[in-house]
Amino acid sequence: MKITGIRTMTVDVPLEEPVITAIHDIRSIGYVLVFVDTDADVTGEGHLFSLPARHLAPLEAMTTVLGQSLIGEDAHRVEGLWHKLWTEVNFVGHKGVPLFALSALDMALWDARGKALGQPVHRLLGSCRDAVPAYHSGGLWLSRSRDELVAEAKKFLKQGFRAMKMRLGKPRWQEDVERAEAVRDAVGPDIRLMADANQGLDVRHALRLGRALEPVNLDWFEEPVPAYDVAGHAALAAALDTPIATGETEYTRYGFRPLIEAKAADVLMPDLGRVGGVTEFMRVGHMAQAWDLPVSPHLYSEPSLQLCGALQNCDLLEYMPWSALLFGEKIEFEDGRARIPERPGLGFSLDLDALERYRAAPAAGSAAKPAPKRPARRAAAKKDEAPAAKPEPKAQAAPKTRAETKPAAEDPPKPNAAPEPAPKPVRRRRREPGKTPWYLRRETEDA
Ligand SMILES: [Mg+2]
Repeated sequence: MKITGIRTMTVDVPLEEPVITAIHDIRSIGYVLVFVDTDADVTGEGHLFSLPARHLAPLEAMTTVLGQSLIGEDAHRVEGLWHKLWTEVNFVGHKGVPLFALSALDMALWDARGKALGQPVHRLLGSCRDAVPAYHSGGLWLSRSRDELVAEAKKFLKQGFRAMKMRLGKPRWQEDVERAEAVRDAVGPDIRLMADANQGLDVRHALRLGRALEPVNLDWFEEPVPAYDVAGHAALAAALDTPIATGETEYTRYGFRPLIEAKAADVLMPDLGRVGGVTEFMRVGHMAQAWDLPVSPHLYSEPSLQLCGALQNCDLLEYMPWSALLFGEKIEFEDGRARIPERPGLGFSLDLDALERYRAAPAAGSAAKPAPKRPARRAAAKKDEAPAAKPEPKAQAAPKTRAETKPAAEDPPKPNAAPEPAPKPVRRRRREPGKTPWYLRRETEDA
């Protein structure tokens, strides 16, 4: 199954109400949608999201550029292709934007593979369950009053959920305790209740709060301190009976291994769009099994269901309704449990007709705008410069790939144009030709 093209599209989806946490004030969510076309009449779909949406442009550009390395490759070789992309991003880094791009492409490859084989991804990975308990994560925000918290918790119960997550981070830790007690009283002792501080506290504050919350019997206390404070998480994990959950902002097994080694987490929370896609999520899940640690996916509720269906220690789904309108199919719930889809691939198809109205505007500075003028200082020096450099071979390859995509009538909407590489400035080197280092020769003699 040969990969014939990579396409992207960006959308900016407004939220029904702003989301307020200890560190967030979110009004909309930006998504890069990724399509991997193949010669087997199958298109794999993946996506990544961005907070804030204005960061979409570099994420899309990296996805487009990295995706070019997949053209002509066999889409079934996901393990090999993961390592090809991993090697390629070595210079720009094995975290951050490159890993978002790699994750979305890997997701699309698994989707293509499942569709081509007529199997859901969880069966290709080794299935372990048909449904998974889901906790409602789309509410109980920090901005809610205590009465609103109680009403919303009861609403989630009515909807059938047996687990839910609230947020912490009020300036007075006593107020967080009062709010958590109110929710616990409202839902009763048998409902699983989690609490997320969204990295908003310091260790001393988190310790006082965590101790006071022990009687509330939380399933976990999530990201009490900044994610990079591994020692702080470890100190809290050692001091508190309540399990500590973290990992949603970590990249790859190399990010999770130090958390495990430092005993900084009792629950690991890989994020499918950041950890390195389906391939790397499985590695983190299996690594956690060696320490008898559970993993619970962070967001990406729809595609993460396949991981819950494939990993024995991944037995709790975060249900966040934000992404529901991306897809034509909805998660099916029964008694608070989400069914693992049996549809081929990841089991959810992007609803492009519905998404058209949310198409993101080109970012400032993207190729949609004319290139900025040369600064005066450079313009003055221009007369000394050598003739224009030879075009880079790879700069020609990108448009050709776009032309390889299917006719417009069958396509999802055309992708946003990736920024074209700026012309490379050619500098005159005042060196003797014979003494020119090899790495400069192309810019002097060859130019
Ligand atoms: Mg969180």
